[in-house]
Amino acid sequence: MQYAITFIPGDGIGPEVADAARKCVDAAADVDGFSVEWDEQLAGEEAMNKHGTLLPQKTIASIKRNGVALKGPVTTPIGTGFRSINVELRQQLDLFANVRPAKLISGIASKYSNVDIVVIRENTEDVYAGIEYDTNTSSARKLIRFAKRTTGKTIRKDSAIGFKPISPYGSRRIAEFAFEYAKIHKRRLVTAVHKANIMKFTDGLFLREARKISDKHKSIKFDDRIIDNMCMQLVVKPELYDVLLCPNLYGDILSDLCSGLVGGLGIAPSGNIGSHYAIFEPVHGSAPKYSRMDKVNPTAAVLSAAMMLEHLGKIKAARNIEKAVASVIKEGKHLTYDLKEKNPAGTKEMAIAIIRKIKG
Ligand code: NAD
Repeated sequence: MQYAITFIPGDGIGPEVADAARKCVDAAADVDGFSVEWDEQLAGEEAMNKHGTLLPQKTIASIKRNGVALKGPVTTPIGTGFRSINVELRQQLDLFANVRPAKLISGIASKYSNVDIVVIRENTEDVYAGIEYDTNTSSARKLIRFAKRTTGKTIRKDSAIGFKPISPYGSRRIAEFAFEYAKIHKRRLVTAVHKANIMKFTDGLFLREARKISDKHKSIKFDDRIIDNMCMQLVVKPELYDVLLCPNLYGDILSDLCSGLVGGLGIAPSGNIGSHYAIFEPVHGSAPKYSRMDKVNPTAAVLSAAMMLEHLGKIKAARNIEKAVASVIKEGKHLTYDLKEKNPAGTKEMAIAIIRKIKG
């Protein structure tokens, strides 16, 4: 069987880590008896240079055709039309769930001994909706007057204003996704993260909808934490937590915190998943200062590729890649600078070591 997958190399370190991930998929597919036809497309700086846009329609069309994409990180140039290419992709394809696992792999130096957390982040709403009004604009001033009229509260007149939309629909579908994820992956606990004590309507709604959905999934335990307490708890006793169900902004912050618990951004994978399409990419960005240096860790991209194979139902191939990564890290010989201080390997050397393990 052959799978068609959109491949977006990205910018900065993107092409190096995405290429490593693609090669790992090819190796795992070969072992498992299937193949992948890669449909290479551009997004980011190279797309801008070649097509005059950061996100060509051709790229969107390819993802819609194939359903699945493997993507390297992209640089969002400051001062262009898009706030962020990633936010634009997530919104155009309605990739409402961002899944970010953080699992401690044996061999990685960490203060902790047992961390296995998955952050499920709502990907389309919240302050990330991208609706903001700049300081001293007539729209911002109108909103400030509206707030005064309707709530009696005074906002400083030169304030910039941002929206924080949280809908019952958006909250229900991410909660449903989190419980389904927990069931499929044999997880025991879903913890909703919020600040409903202060943001009673927006976060209050998110928590209320999460509670309602939890009533339909009695086999999975449910509790909730206020975001500030959650940060402290994760640093002090991360082993108590399992699946974290978060609105967009808290999910973004907590997933970086969780990746710090297990060894850093170099090993943190993610999937952006919707009802029709999915994009898998490392959590980290394009780290331009390390571009073309054959230096950075390919693991985050490689583990994102394993998540993609699992999404496609190729569980054996996905596990093969995960085991190969774990084995290379445990051996400790071919590791990049973030995991090995003395004589670190380059991106290619670490990728080759993983591929060798995949092939058995
Ligand atoms: P970054 O994640 O690119 O880099 C921050 C630091 O993390 C690096 O300097 C490096 O020390 C470390 N790091 C990142 N990836 C690593 C790896 N694979 N191995 C080892 N160490 C690694 O964050 P940034 O510098 O804030 O952002 C750079 C650009 O990336 C920005 O334009 C930003 O918009 C973009 N970005 C893109 C995505 C994406 O495409 N998904 C995500 C985040 C940031």
